[in-house]
Amino acid sequence: MNKQTKAVFLDRDGVINYEVGDYIMRLEDFKILPHVIPGLKKLQELGFLLIVVTNQGGIAKGLYTHQTFQSMHDYLDKELEKHQIKITEVYYCPHHPFTSECLCRKPGSLLVEKAIAKYGIDPNLSWFIGDKQRDMDAGAAAGVKGILIEPNEDWTSYVDQFNTSAKQ
Ligand SMILES: [Mg+2]
Ligand SMILES: [Zn+2]
Repeated sequence: MNKQTKAVFLDRDGVINYEVGDYIMRLEDFKILPHVIPGLKKLQELGFLLIVVTNQGGIAKGLYTHQTFQSMHDYLDKELEKHQIKITEVYYCPHHPFTSECLCRKPGSLLVEKAIAKYGIDPNLSWFIGDKQRDMDAGAAAGVKGILIEPNEDWTSYVDQFNTSAKQ
């Protein structure tokens, strides 16, 4: 039997880059948190896929574009590549209830479930790191345990716990 696929789902703003209390609208405002490189490295070494799930309602509001969003992730990929870290996929919801309802916005679990289906991820072996309750809810609805942190908190110390519970 194949080894089961496990993943760590990561919210973006406040978990990977600095949460500034507003939408990140410009590439210049996308600043990677210092603990992210060692943290992701460790997760990758433990065999987790790295999957970002982020609400980007500012796109629906016309505050920034898909292209600007993409430029942030091109930059992030490049920085991570220097450390041989690869994010498997970035899922984002560009909608906002302000303009239209959708199924993909967290706390909805659609994007998490998409990733689970695409990569054959076992939710029982997987985790969601987020800084909002809606991150926890999105994970929980898909059977993924959550770690709720403060925005911009160093989450690397939680990672050892992931390894232990993945054994069962
Ligand atoms: Mg966040
Ligand atoms: Zn959406």
